[in-house]
Amino acid sequence: VALGSLPEIDALQVEQSRSNEIETTALTFVLTQPVKYRYFTLSNPNRLVVDINDAMLKADVAKVPLDNTVIKSIRAGQTGKQVRLVFDLKQKTDTQITLLAPKSNYRDRLLIVLTSKNAAITSKQIPEKKTLNTSKNSLLLKAAPERDIVVVIDPGHGGKDPGAVGSYGAREKEIVLGISQALYHLMKNEPGLKPVLTRSGDYFIGLRGRLQKARNAKADMFIAIHADAYKNRSARGASVYALSQRGASSEAARWLAQKENYSELGGVDLNGLEDSDKNLRSVLIDLSQTATIAESLDIGESLLSHLSHINSLHHETVEQARFVVLKSPDIPSVLVETGFISNPSEEHNLQNPAYREQIAKAILTGIKQYFVDNPPRGTLYAAQKDEQQAQLAHRTQELPYRIKKGDTLSLLADEYHISVEAIRKRNGIHNGDINVGQTIILPAIA
Ligand SMILES: [Zn+2]
Repeated sequence: VALGSLPEIDALQVEQSRSNEIETTALTFVLTQPVKYRYFTLSNPNRLVVDINDAMLKADVAKVPLDNTVIKSIRAGQTGKQVRLVFDLKQKTDTQITLLAPKSNYRDRLLIVLTSKNAAITSKQIPEKKTLNTSKNSLLLKAAPERDIVVVIDPGHGGKDPGAVGSYGAREKEIVLGISQALYHLMKNEPGLKPVLTRSGDYFIGLRGRLQKARNAKADMFIAIHADAYKNRSARGASVYALSQRGASSEAARWLAQKENYSELGGVDLNGLEDSDKNLRSVLIDLSQTATIAESLDIGESLLSHLSHINSLHHETVEQARFVVLKSPDIPSVLVETGFISNPSEEHNLQNPAYREQIAKAILTGIKQYFVDNPPRGTLYAAQKDEQQAQLAHRTQELPYRIKKGDTLSLLADEYHISVEAIRKRNGIHNGDINVGQTIILPAIA
């Protein structure tokens, strides 16, 4: 195996949290591919040693901030194709390690969770170190080749719940069903996308029932369709919502309390965790929610940019709220308020099938654009992106490139198979500065 094709450990993130007297440190290694690993602990002084086989360490672990964590220092060494990481610990900890499967724009990760009783608070004995059944915990989702991206479309309200009612009698439940069905039919004709409706007629489904349908369908994303009402009849325009942090916290508490109802999270079998004190479970839920909200916000932005061609925007950016239907911790979820049914001219528009079709098209374009940029692994969109990347890797001509949010010169250099220096030189960039929206020229590969 050439070193260049080995999995790489690209980054290390450390998060610290505390509940009651339990200190939890979550270490996330960001990987380019899944890895094989083993670990053991040593005492006097306390250390955790993690060996990762057939991998290259790219992250600078010495620079990771460790303030307030249970870790004193991290040492890392690469011997041939083996990476050894030694964590010097301030006290004895419980250690749990699990590989996390990639999730849309998040890559493979190795998660190490260290828990310890805060010695200053409790005099209770630290529980015996638990053994970890790695075969149970290293759950990698193996997707079938080129599966479809599943989009669950949720028309709001229905049946005994009419939703908002306009001054000319338009009912939200009918309008949003019309938009959702238009979206469903457009999406059905899109290779690589598979739409699923939570309701296809005028009947009632509870909010939790909608979440369950998304889980059953193994949704890659969830989109709820609504039409607002407000006492001020001049209020108008579309809005997009993602879950708020407070909504996420209350849902995490529910997942912990109703353990038996929530056994699977983003491909990880939570019942398979040896985790009597629920710490690992709690960290996994938290990490998943953080990632899912970030993805939902990105999807929301993509939707707003296309909805803005059809309707004015009531909110220019994605709003965050505690809507129940947005609470799936592992399924990016957005709620689109397509317009105000309480505004007579919008009510009129929303009753027009041609207008609904336009809204549905804008939503579809926003969804497609998001998945072109962030294809879930194993999908047709991912295969297309890979092929595009392969072509880029052999490009014989220069390529103009518009800087996006999150781009850095070194990420671009990696992605486009050239050196940072080559990009700097071609574009006359003297420091690291690049600005979102700026267009630079990526040199050809000689
Ligand atoms: Zn509604």
